[in-house]
Amino acid sequence: MTKATERTEHVLLSHWLDNRAYPGVSGSTAPVTNPATGEVTGRVALGSVEDARAVIAAAAQAFPGWRDTSLARRTQILFAFRELLNARKGELAEIITSEHGKVVSDALGEVSRGQEVVEFACGIPHLLKGGFTENASTKVDVYSIRQPLGPVAVISPFNFPAMVPMWFFPIAIAAGNTVVLKPSEKDPTASLWLANLWKEAGLPDGVFNVLQGDKTVVDELLTNPAVKSVSFVGSTPIAQYVYATATASGKRVQALGGAKNHAVILPDADLDLAADSMVNAGFGSAGERCMAISVCVAVGPIADDLVAKIAERTTGLKVGDGARDSDMGPLVTKAHRDKVASYIDAGEADGAKIVVDGRHVSADGGAEGFWLGPTLIDHVTPQMSVYADEIFGPVLSVIRVETYDEALELINSNPYGNGTAIFTNDGGAARRFQNEVEVGMIGINVPIPVPMAYFSFGGWKASLFGDSHAHGLDGVHFFTRGKAITSRWLDPSHRGIELGFPQNV
Ligand code: NAD
Repeated sequence: MTKATERTEHVLLSHWLDNRAYPGVSGSTAPVTNPATGEVTGRVALGSVEDARAVIAAAAQAFPGWRDTSLARRTQILFAFRELLNARKGELAEIITSEHGKVVSDALGEVSRGQEVVEFACGIPHLLKGGFTENASTKVDVYSIRQPLGPVAVISPFNFPAMVPMWFFPIAIAAGNTVVLKPSEKDPTASLWLANLWKEAGLPDGVFNVLQGDKTVVDELLTNPAVKSVSFVGSTPIAQYVYATATASGKRVQALGGAKNHAVILPDADLDLAADSMVNAGFGSAGERCMAISVCVAVGPIADDLVAKIAERTTGLKVGDGARDSDMGPLVTKAHRDKVASYIDAGEADGAKIVVDGRHVSADGGAEGFWLGPTLIDHVTPQMSVYADEIFGPVLSVIRVETYDEALELINSNPYGNGTAIFTNDGGAARRFQNEVEVGMIGINVPIPVPMAYFSFGGWKASLFGDSHAHGLDGVHFFTRGKAITSRWLDPSHRGIELGFPQNV
């Protein structure tokens, strides 16, 4: 099939502004594939600078009206959005599976975790309450308020096309900002589904907008003076670039980067729990999670038993189309599948032992799907590329060490610091670990410690640039700025006669 025929036959996944689809003027598109079949299912618009400016302008125009919309009204719209999302999340999960590849139950979990942030944002009136000091000086009061920033940008990765945008936009919108979401070009349909849902929930035109594309539109978001903040999630080199470029343009930035998450298994741990957890956290979503465990650090004499238990569970996993009854789906693109497989080749060449080999998996899916089975590699050392690089696939490396101190040193000398876990029955060891480890999110006998919406999500070191984590109170703080007012009223005004029971409008 030629490119020209594809373009006419496939759905154009366009931009979204003022509550309607906007095809843009660039004319440039990229294919979107179903990873379980390898088929091109649509084409996503790759916006030009002009397209980016049109979407940003819609957000800028909507800002004054939305900022001045009462909290009562904003909250009603958020509740309506939450109800629609809750009722129809199955549709969204299927869309995610068809473009990302993860199994539907996993996609549903992603949507539910995003929904929790919407629920948190429904409490925005309470979260935005300021402070008041009466009579700070004689007849002088001092108080503080928090106000929205303006149009804000959210730039998201392919691996959570619904949850990651929802880490940011519910709070941004609730706080009175307008949003331009730039989703990954690999799975853009979820963003348009969410935009439609906002429209149905009654969100005014221009408050939530979608800009499709690649570096061209990202660069415009990072430098356009109308955009007041950037929330980015993606790989570390791009996160670093986004942070440097947008802060140089005077913007507030939170840029979450890549990860290499270790789980330490101490000799006193429950090995069955640890083995189950390694399989779930290593191979769930085909390892394409920023909180996936990619390194299992076996401490002391338990390593042989632990590896045997993980291997036994791994070989039983069913790989196939996420829309069917599978445990694990395909990888997102063929190029990514091949890159991940090349790390297994490199590990083998470097002398690691391939205990379970996913390179020739037989999958319950299309012959052209991007398949790679779960892979377990033992006797990995820190010098090997299979350890040193973020692989972002279903590859679990085992590193054997003798002591807790060696395990801690390994984690603390790794450049990433997103998540980590420790498995032990010793409370003192766990407490010591949570104190000493240089990582942002810690699990104790919990393999993927993604914080609840009312806490904040964020890593340390090369896993986050900026000092603000996502959602929770950090999110409210990020999407607002403070003002302190000192006032003196010698002649107070009054509101006239009003006998009715006051209603919020
Ligand atoms: P990516 O960095 O390739 O892309 C992320 C976003 O940046 C996309 O919207 C993409 O279009 C845009 N982009 C890509 N190249 C760009 C460039 N040169 N200039 C400007 N913009 C560019 O990441 P990905 O492959 O989509 O996602 C996987 C990565 O995201 C992994 O590294 C993973 O660890 C990370 N991630 C981190 C977290 C976290 O919370 N720390 C969460 C999810 C994913």
